[in-house]
Amino acid sequence: MPYYGCHLSISKGFEAMGKDALFIGADTFAFFPRNPRGGQMRPLDELDIQRLKQLLQDHEFGPLVAHAPYIYNMATGDPEASAVVRQRMKEDLERLDHLPNVYYNIHPGAHVGQGQEQGISNVASVIKDVLSEGFSTPILLETMAGKGTELGGQFQELAAIISELDSDPQVGVCLDTCHVSDGGYDVAQDLDGVLDELDQVVGLERLAAVHVNDSKNPAGSHRDRHELLGDGTLGLDFFRSLVQSPRLKDLPMILETPNKKLEGYKREIAMLRAFEQGATVQEAQSQIESEPTQ
Ligand code: FE
Ligand code: FE
Ligand code: ZN
Repeated sequence: MPYYGCHLSISKGFEAMGKDALFIGADTFAFFPRNPRGGQMRPLDELDIQRLKQLLQDHEFGPLVAHAPYIYNMATGDPEASAVVRQRMKEDLERLDHLPNVYYNIHPGAHVGQGQEQGISNVASVIKDVLSEGFSTPILLETMAGKGTELGGQFQELAAIISELDSDPQVGVCLDTCHVSDGGYDVAQDLDGVLDELDQVVGLERLAAVHVNDSKNPAGSHRDRHELLGDGTLGLDFFRSLVQSPRLKDLPMILETPNKKLEGYKREIAMLRAFEQGATVQEAQSQIESEPTQ
């Protein structure tokens, strides 16, 4: 059984995220370990973390998926910028090591004109340096839409990074449904074919989390604009097959859809759970509409 959740705000602390997750029927969630623009971290509140740990245990949560700030560019060729990214990643991982069962999800970065090969080797050297500190939290490289010089739009780029890391088992992959489609992998038409390709190029055993997003744009657009489930080019039939796929069971499935309120995520999670139980698109929709909104 997959776990379902969405990206939550850490502004009220760790336990508050756990409570928000329960409110929307989630049993996993994602969060930025610090301000998404990469600012200072607040001091560690041990008691708050303890309370979250208890909540996660009491309610049988799956793995959590922390997201590195978007501003980190591991592929940068600028030594000073690279030093800042390494330092920040080490601080993030030091913090995450206080939580049980959490992944650190990061965008590989953009090579900004140095070329794909140089970018890939920069990413690998940053990860190698960071992991040399002995953190235990796994790092997940996200599949990207391939916007501009962004790395990770092709599975081969992720495979090349992992191979430069001597296939370190601490490095995995997070599949973003909007990004892979935008990157040119037509998941809406052929989910199994795309998973076969991911398996051949990277290895499905490295797939540790899924970002569940519809896309505003057609496959291959390289745009990266997320849409609410069912309102985009992927469609509800696709999300139904996604959560029913035996190859994706037990993975945390994280919504990053443009809902303005938690209630929107609550409805999307209820719909995904109904799909998993075998409901048709119409059944799932009417089931959700009959539910009282709190
Ligand atoms: Fe992401
Ligand atoms: Fe994502
Ligand atoms: Zn995105």
